[in-house]
Amino acid sequence: MYFDHHVHPEHGPYHPGTYPLSWIEAYLAVGRERGVAGIGLVEHGYRFLEAAGLLPTPWAEARCRYPLEAYTRLCDEVRTALGVAVGLEMDYVPGREDAIRAYLSRYRWDFVLGSVHWLGDFGLDVAEMRDRYAERPLLEIWREYYRTQVAMVATGLFDVVTHPDLPKIFGGERPPEDELLPLYRSLVEALADTRVALELNTSGLRRPVREMYPTPALLALAARAGVPLVLASDAHEPENVGYAFDAAAELARRAGFREAVGFRDGERVALPL
Ligand SMILES: [Zn+2]
Ligand SMILES: [Zn+2]
Repeated sequence: MYFDHHVHPEHGPYHPGTYPLSWIEAYLAVGRERGVAGIGLVEHGYRFLEAAGLLPTPWAEARCRYPLEAYTRLCDEVRTALGVAVGLEMDYVPGREDAIRAYLSRYRWDFVLGSVHWLGDFGLDVAEMRDRYAERPLLEIWREYYRTQVAMVATGLFDVVTHPDLPKIFGGERPPEDELLPLYRSLVEALADTRVALELNTSGLRRPVREMYPTPALLALAARAGVPLVLASDAHEPENVGYAFDAAAELARRAGFREAVGFRDGERVALPL
């Protein structure tokens, strides 16, 4: 059995303000077919009016559209009616820690996913910005990305680091592994010190890179350091809940993990892999 604690409700008939429970039940039904015993629902933190100014990019500002309360009402409901864990996928932006803390304190989340999608105004996973990978040395981009992830872990604001090698998303060139290994180690050390979990996210299989995040080398370092692992589909629609989880579990076992964790009533719960 698995937990899938990275499930976005945002497509389909759901939008904050009108939230048919049947939409969330559709996610649970697909999960059951794939051995998923519990899902964790997350909206992107930037989707709400209260998040205005948290991300210094016009791309995100244009998307702060809904009152946060519209989502937290759904959270209250699915927690009670369906036993779903509820959280946010929150962007980390260096220097905005106090504002992020204040924003997160508006609700009692079961868990908060910490994500680095942005280096300044460069969206690492935004297809229209793909050319920006060529604007400066690639290794510099990867170094800044890992520096930012390490700083994110140190804030203590997040329970999980998501898709921890996101700059590979478009499947282009990558710095050589011997240049990347020290970056992987820096993240793993930060995680081991803080007990923040690392995500094994299968959504990369559905992106041009056609690989899970992270790469097996990073996964093995994390297993050796005793970092907690979370399995995640990053589904944005029901058909992707628990996507490729048997393969993910196999990859995690090969890296040395024996269990994955999820969140229940504010507590971490481990399930054997
Ligand atoms: Zn993400
Ligand atoms: Zn996500």
